[in-house]
Amino acid sequence: MLNILRAIVQEVSAARDLPVALDIIVRRVKEAMQTAVCSVYLYDKETSRYTLMATEGLNKAAEGKVTLGRSEGLIGQVGLREEPINLHDAATHPKFSYIKETGEESFHAFLGVPIIHHRRLLGVVVVQGEDIRRFDEHEEAFLVTLTAQLAGLIAHAEATGALKKSADEHPQAARFNGVAGAPGVAIGQAVPFIPCAELDAIQDRQAQDIKVELELFDLALDAVRVELKETAAKLDDRIRPEEKALFDAYLRMLDDDALGKEIRDRIKQGHWVQGALRQVISEHVAQFEMMDDPYLRERAMDIKDLGRRILASLLQKDPPKIEYPPNTILVSEELSATMLGQVPQEQLAGLVSVNGSSNSHVAILARAMGIPTVMGAMELPYTHIGGREVIVDGNLGLVYTSAPPELLNNYREVVEEEKQFKVGLEALRDEPCITPDNYRLPLWVNTGLMTDTVRSLDRGAEGVGLYRTEVPFMIRECFPSEAEQQQIYRQQLEAFAPRPVTMRTLDIGGDKSLSYFPIREENPFLGWRGIRVTLDHPEIFLVQVRAMLKASAGLDNLRIMLPLITSPSEVEDALHLIHRAHYEVLAEGLQVTLPPVGVMIEVPAAVYQARELAKLVDFLSIGSNDLTQYLLAVDRNNPRVADLYHQFHPAVLTALQQVVQAGHAEGKPVGICGEMAGDPAAAILLMAMGFDVLSMNATNLLRVKWALRNITLDRAKEILEDVMKMDNAWVIHSTVELGLKKAGLGQIMSSRSKQLEGK
Ligand code: PEP
Ligand code: MG
Repeated sequence: MLNILRAIVQEVSAARDLPVALDIIVRRVKEAMQTAVCSVYLYDKETSRYTLMATEGLNKAAEGKVTLGRSEGLIGQVGLREEPINLHDAATHPKFSYIKETGEESFHAFLGVPIIHHRRLLGVVVVQGEDIRRFDEHEEAFLVTLTAQLAGLIAHAEATGALKKSADEHPQAARFNGVAGAPGVAIGQAVPFIPCAELDAIQDRQAQDIKVELELFDLALDAVRVELKETAAKLDDRIRPEEKALFDAYLRMLDDDALGKEIRDRIKQGHWVQGALRQVISEHVAQFEMMDDPYLRERAMDIKDLGRRILASLLQKDPPKIEYPPNTILVSEELSATMLGQVPQEQLAGLVSVNGSSNSHVAILARAMGIPTVMGAMELPYTHIGGREVIVDGNLGLVYTSAPPELLNNYREVVEEEKQFKVGLEALRDEPCITPDNYRLPLWVNTGLMTDTVRSLDRGAEGVGLYRTEVPFMIRECFPSEAEQQQIYRQQLEAFAPRPVTMRTLDIGGDKSLSYFPIREENPFLGWRGIRVTLDHPEIFLVQVRAMLKASAGLDNLRIMLPLITSPSEVEDALHLIHRAHYEVLAEGLQVTLPPVGVMIEVPAAVYQARELAKLVDFLSIGSNDLTQYLLAVDRNNPRVADLYHQFHPAVLTALQQVVQAGHAEGKPVGICGEMAGDPAAAILLMAMGFDVLSMNATNLLRVKWALRNITLDRAKEILEDVMKMDNAWVIHSTVELGLKKAGLGQIMSSRSKQLEGK
């Protein structure tokens, strides 16, 4: 059975459109279950009716013509009850309604299964038989299993079909979920980027003349090197040397001792150049794709992209000449960093990638360049949306095609307001963050790339609450040396001095890993992450802490922070190593004071032991991104459960409040450095809870400052008191936003609220 199931799913997924997919389903299911009839009815929520879309066994002429109301007949019952109905004789059921056009009078046995995708009813699959008998439990289980698997494919085919409707019909609006790649909202015209050379189509062949093949390969490599350098040069004024290192990494992959050598070796074994290229690239891609680690999986995209470029150069195919409209939204199956350079920068409004995550190189670059980006929009039929108007919501990780006018207007307002608001906000750069009733709350920033530093200073950040040291580690090919690290950290400390800079010790594992230090685990978020890795590798930890301490000489604005702490003993071990590193630095003759050390509260265990932890260190800082994921058991990067990841969940708010109280009971300041701090609505609650500092993405700093300068601490406390009595995250979020609106702060409502308002 499993083989048949797999074969059907495979065949359906290869279908070119919805009608073909449905035809395959009815034909193959009828065959597999040896029944007289299999039919698919699809539900249209606009008209609240089912339509018989495909059948094998009933009258074919009824396809597309027979329709049923939402609760009509047995089909309506299956849909309403959202569960299978299995009857020995359909006609004896009180809800049975006979439809003459289908010619179903000779069938008795009936099994209907609802097609449900992400809680949405798409339709019903029905099998019917001539005998009076119930389908047995294996048959029922087979159809339920198959339908559950087909639901995603049908949803995808349906979305594609809606997009393909002819110009005189208004194509249906569709929303595709992905993950937030780079913040901001963009509205523009979709330009699909379809690679001009496909490696998979290359056949194996013997080389006629190995020398000639090697020469061809060298020429192609040279051309790709030039192309990569040109692309990097085009991005020159928008990215910093740190980010440009990505292109150097690409170039190094082509070197003689990397992919280049392997391909040459294959040619020398007698393969023609294109075959050798395909073999080596697909082997590497397959290896990377199999890895559990998301960062490494992303590298498969980079290698595939390089392979395609070399092939295009061998085929002497220039990249297709594309006319880029003024507001280009570049969409691709696997957007790569090099594709960015091909669009004139002033015309590039947004980016969407079907594959990839917020770790992809392209997402890192997009954040640095401030281009709203959605990654991992898995169900987006990107080849069909060329020329259409699309909305890219990089804050929420959503893409809309053919959006209805109200939604479009809402988003247009968001884009316009963002623009205007940004201009107005700049005036606040040097103003303190102080409420109308004179409560002062310092706003700090989170940094990683050099670009963040520049943007943070531009926006008047008062300090750095989280410097993610893993970022410079991630865009290199081996661990940076102590001297290299010292130089990077010095830049960061100098840029902000005398303001404090909180450097987090290396936080890898989970969704962040290093290509040169792979961590393969079944469950990486519950595995070897954060402090667990560095305590197991004191040589890495000590080098890093020494580099931080040395970098702080004469500046004295360093703070050290430990990620993913689960137990006080980890803090004790880390403090021991920090003291040792300090001693070693002093022994080298450098005058460096021991910096304040703090702990990140990111794990539920740390919430319960916050007081014990606070006793050991100088400050606490909540990493609400991880804390939310662990409290709610929702993977922070998984688009399937993105709706469940809610920072306004009462459990999250209660945990935050408890940590503030625990820290203060020990006389230690408590900050927060998760994304939440950068959401003005959340910031108001956080202020009311008593956080001593909010640290956020520089993009949001002025927006949060504006909100806090316009609401009194007293009013914020009233809102907090109200919401702490509520038990539903969505209700809490809307209550806070309503509170903001009433206080005259409607302008900073998130695009999600705007969008919901427009519904
Ligand atoms: C967090 O978990 O909230 C945090 C700030 O750390 P990161 O997002 O880097 O895991
Ligand atoms: Mg974290």
